[in-house]
Amino acid sequence: MKKSLRKTDPEIYELIEAEAQRRRVGLEMIPSENHTSPAVLEVLGSILTDKYSEGYPGKRYYAGNEFIDKVENLARERAKKAFGVPHANVQPYSGSPANFAVYLATMKPGDVVMGQDLPDGGHLTHGWKFNISGTLYERAPYHVTKEGIIDFEEVRVLAKEKKPKLIWCGATAYPREFPFEEFAKIADEVGAYFAADIAHIAGLVIAGAHKSPVPYADIITTTTHKTLRGPRGALIMVTQKGLDKDPELAEKIDKAVFPFGVQGGPHNHQTAAIAVALKEAMTPEFKEYGKQVVKNAKALGESLKEQGLRLVSGGTDNHMLLADLTPFGKGTGVFAQDALDAAGITVNKNTIPKDPSSPFYPSGIRLGTPAITTRGMKEKEMKIIGKWIAEIIQEVKHCQLPETKEERIVSLKQFKKDIAGNKRLKEIKGQVAELCSRFPLPY
Ligand SMILES: *Cc1c(COP(=O)(O)O)cnc(C)c1O
Repeated sequence: MKKSLRKTDPEIYELIEAEAQRRRVGLEMIPSENHTSPAVLEVLGSILTDKYSEGYPGKRYYAGNEFIDKVENLARERAKKAFGVPHANVQPYSGSPANFAVYLATMKPGDVVMGQDLPDGGHLTHGWKFNISGTLYERAPYHVTKEGIIDFEEVRVLAKEKKPKLIWCGATAYPREFPFEEFAKIADEVGAYFAADIAHIAGLVIAGAHKSPVPYADIITTTTHKTLRGPRGALIMVTQKGLDKDPELAEKIDKAVFPFGVQGGPHNHQTAAIAVALKEAMTPEFKEYGKQVVKNAKALGESLKEQGLRLVSGGTDNHMLLADLTPFGKGTGVFAQDALDAAGITVNKNTIPKDPSSPFYPSGIRLGTPAITTRGMKEKEMKIIGKWIAEIIQEVKHCQLPETKEERIVSLKQFKKDIAGNKRLKEIKGQVAELCSRFPLPY
């Protein structure tokens, strides 16, 4: 296959090779990313991509779906088994359209939605003001305290006052265990649907390394490409609790995905790859993996703290850490992200609770251990990586973000030039590559 690509399109071939090389010698520490298995990649590149199969198994609009039906049924059964739920839709193209389908199934325009606010670590699709979820529906966002913990007093007061139709629990930047049980109580009290969005932690839930939302939530959505380590894609599941609350909920969800929602024909190569990833996720090895992801995040957190860095909420219960760089000034996350990248350590700039700067120039960085744990790294390596990260941040702590937009652009350009010539960063980059060479990628 690769040979044919090389011949047909050498430009794309070379770019894929260059990306593979970047990964080989670098540490992928963006917490929403992972390295998939060769089996998952094989299925993604399979002939299943060619087939149209609008509808659901046994109820398609096109002929020739005998085998596609079997693929989708396998994916559904495995999702139900992996999480312990009575209903799963495996067709959503990705996490955001999955969440939109939940709105379409449960809300009318103008109804109230509650979710963790985006600057507080929540996801765009949970009612952010610049997302359709916060414009078509009335948003009533909740926040985290200055320590970075979900402000449950606020959740309670808001829910009683605003009477939401839907309450989300789930986030893109939250290092602590989600309080599903408390959310369920409030949702039941005010008559709202409770949706747990476990996009980040799905793999940890299957591995038993994070509490499962199944006994508490009515609906569960997740991406399949983060800790679950599958292809890009998503699942929407309905729990027994959800079916008890609304016996038509599963049907409403399926209709909201197709034909009412934003999707047409399902991506069958993706569905099959999800099935493979779920099979992998139900092995004892994956259980070990999920537990190691959390152990590694804790070890990395300890290492960073030993070097004097401040962590939002003081540490982590999951796969992710948020470093609060405000002691060095505001907006330092931008400089830290670029400097770490120059040393072969990929993280992302991120807002911290009550960030004195803006989401585009935030004062923190978000880092995670799913991908480097897939490579086989353990606590010992985390200690070393923590030291490098802290040292690199020391290199940029003098950088201050100017006030105006024009000055910022000039300053960041100059900064990139400076770090490209920074000797210590180059040295660390070499050491990072050496470490990586001992932990090869799965593909
Ligand atoms: C990543 C994520 C999503 C969206 O997934 P996409 O596949 O990027 O659309 C939704 N919710 C949460 C909490 C996420 O972290």
